[in-house]
Amino acid sequence: MSKKLNIDPINNWIKKDNDPLIISGPCSAETYDQLYETCKQLKSHGINLMRAGVWKPRTRPGTFEGNGEEALKWISDIKKELGVQFAVEVANTNHIELSLKYGIDILWIGARTTVNPFSVQEIADSVKGTDTPILVKNPINPDLSLWMGALERINKAGIKKLGAIHRGFSMTGSSKYRYVPLWKIAIDLKSNLPNLPVICDPSHICGNREMIFETSQKALDLGYDGLIIESHIDPDNAWSDAKQQVTPEVLSKMKSDLKTKNSNEEDKSYNHLLNEIRESIDDVDKEIIDVISKRIELVEKIGEFKKEQDLTTFQVDRWNEIFKSRLDWALEKGLDKDFIEDLYKVIHLGSINVQNKIINKKKANFKI
Ligand code: PEP
Ligand code: MN
Repeated sequence: MSKKLNIDPINNWIKKDNDPLIISGPCSAETYDQLYETCKQLKSHGINLMRAGVWKPRTRPGTFEGNGEEALKWISDIKKELGVQFAVEVANTNHIELSLKYGIDILWIGARTTVNPFSVQEIADSVKGTDTPILVKNPINPDLSLWMGALERINKAGIKKLGAIHRGFSMTGSSKYRYVPLWKIAIDLKSNLPNLPVICDPSHICGNREMIFETSQKALDLGYDGLIIESHIDPDNAWSDAKQQVTPEVLSKMKSDLKTKNSNEEDKSYNHLLNEIRESIDDVDKEIIDVISKRIELVEKIGEFKKEQDLTTFQVDRWNEIFKSRLDWALEKGLDKDFIEDLYKVIHLGSINVQNKIINKKKANFKI
């Protein structure tokens, strides 16, 4: 799967004043004063690389969608005034032309854009011949190839100052995260493209400010190259992503409390990796329970139907078909035949119990 990219090491294109590298600033550039004050405070805490959303990809229309070119003018003034650098999200040719016109230092491609190869190709075509660094966020859906494909398209356009941002994935089912990190995908990205800088975005992963510190530390322990963290002078009143933004002061405290790998006496990355994999197993198990519950609902419907029609619970043809098709599907996935046979015997037995109870008018109860 690996296709080597031609990457310029990150230290050549991001000035690392801090260890760890932190990019920070508001989710959205709301007003000149809000942006200026946030950046001024960040700078006073030693942060010199700002982020700000200028065009905001909002889920529903009719909400604040960014100030566009007006915000770029504010950024250009603040860059001069404070001597700081800025990263901005772009999603099309127009965004790129304007961002370059106003001297934006780093462009990033948002999660909703990375999913679309047409959009990524449009961006790649527009940045050909330019030298501004580009960071590519993971796609919303957990698809490593799509993420790598986007990086390849941008790299093929000649952009060597290239990095990735891990901002978590949209998943069904409940999770403590807003966008589940699925660390394994970012680790796989790193092992496919070892020279690619990968930055973690704990703000969008967590969706709340309380979990940002621990998630940032986790990322640093896993060897990430930096963090992008949303900050705002008045987080609760932010026009977008209010719950996950922190004040520049809180950010500064986090910055000094975070331990980078070098400053960490004991290398805990293996333990963290183990914990990550365990967390992913927990997530998968939750999905298994959800799916079992959905299956039982369907079995209950069939039970009611069989009861009305006076049919027997066990129908041998259907059972043979289930057994064969499930085994075929499992073998295609390389799963062990005996394991799947045993599993389906238990599932089928459980289903028969549920149906029998319905037919005998007892409350359904699935026992494995
Ligand atoms: C953002 O960084 O504010 C943003 C919209 O990010 P994402 O593409 O990760 O949702
Ligand atoms: Mn945001």
